[in-house]
Amino acid sequence: MHFETLAIHAGQAPDPAYGAVMVPIYQTSTYVQKKIGETEYDYARTANPTRTALQACIAALEGGKHGLAFASGMAAIDCVLRLLRPGDHVLASNDVYGGTYRIFERVYRDYGIAFSFVEMGDLDAVRAALRSTTRMVWVETPTNPLLKIADIAGIAGVLAQAPARPLLVVDNTFASPYLQRPLALGADIVVHSATKYLGGHSDVVSGLVVLNDDALHDRLKFLQNAVGAVPGPLDCFLVLRGIKTLPLRMERHSANAMRIAAWLTAHPRVAQVLYPGLPSHPGHAIAAKQMSGFGGMISFVVKGGPAEARRVAEATRLFALAESLGGVESLIEVPAAMTHTSVANSPLAVDPALIRLSVGIEHADDLIADLAQALA
Ligand SMILES: *Cc1c(COP(=O)(O)O)cnc(C)c1O
Repeated sequence: MHFETLAIHAGQAPDPAYGAVMVPIYQTSTYVQKKIGETEYDYARTANPTRTALQACIAALEGGKHGLAFASGMAAIDCVLRLLRPGDHVLASNDVYGGTYRIFERVYRDYGIAFSFVEMGDLDAVRAALRSTTRMVWVETPTNPLLKIADIAGIAGVLAQAPARPLLVVDNTFASPYLQRPLALGADIVVHSATKYLGGHSDVVSGLVVLNDDALHDRLKFLQNAVGAVPGPLDCFLVLRGIKTLPLRMERHSANAMRIAAWLTAHPRVAQVLYPGLPSHPGHAIAAKQMSGFGGMISFVVKGGPAEARRVAEATRLFALAESLGGVESLIEVPAAMTHTSVANSPLAVDPALIRLSVGIEHADDLIADLAQALA
């Protein structure tokens, strides 16, 4: 079936108990066993029917075999990193979510894992940066916050030639499976902060993992239960509900962002606009090839430096000054001072004059009018 249909129905047959159309919130920690061991569910850390529905739904949307749900995007990322052993090396995009950089450098480095960062858009640089110990290549595309684009199929091709083929992990948070499906492009594992576009309403923190490989899934499922960073049933319900309108929302996010990016480009007080939908963006051709739309995230640099960036971000009325992204409402922030403080003074440090927009699904004219008054 098509994506729009799967978004509403995958994993969500009418409830067997009473025929509820929406998956119920199974708010229970344990389940009665008919005889010892004779039960589909035993304990809710291990499995819960609301979570099972969400896991099946995201697997269908990413075109994968297995889905796993977590208490946050970081918990999902943490579970995937637990596949590593001391001595392993991870090659990552040189522009990643601040929390991803933080867990690499300040948590897993202490366990003997090595990390290095590369321009993922440059396949020769990726090839050159691989080590004999590289077990994982960690890709964000588009990246947070610089909206850089990496060629997922191209990277998969490079890794296929490596002696010990590393796992290709793609954080698909910015695109969502509606715009980009990394498994079909050669990725092994997809991770999501479902807090963002999948949830879509700024009312839940959640994370997801999708993959095809049965043995890797067994290991991650074991870790999900053994470590226990699982989402509650209400959180799973909220993500399931959000996903139902994902196709409609992503269309509007993308259309609004395209208009705003073009408008910002022509604005005299704007020095640079980073949006993969603009033909001037260095990753535009790859983005057009591997994505079905360019999404709702825009970053731009204002003339006048960091102080002017802060002034503009604090002067909008409709765009709320807030961290996070991907909700129906528009948000504005200064990454260097907000979402990306954990990369300050690192090679990944962000220009303090950069402003990031999460363009919502309000009317584009109202959003442009708000930016116009703030820039003025
Ligand atoms: C927000 C985010 C995360 C972390 O997810 P949480 O749900 O906040 O734990 C990971 N990757 C990207 C790209 C993000 O934007």
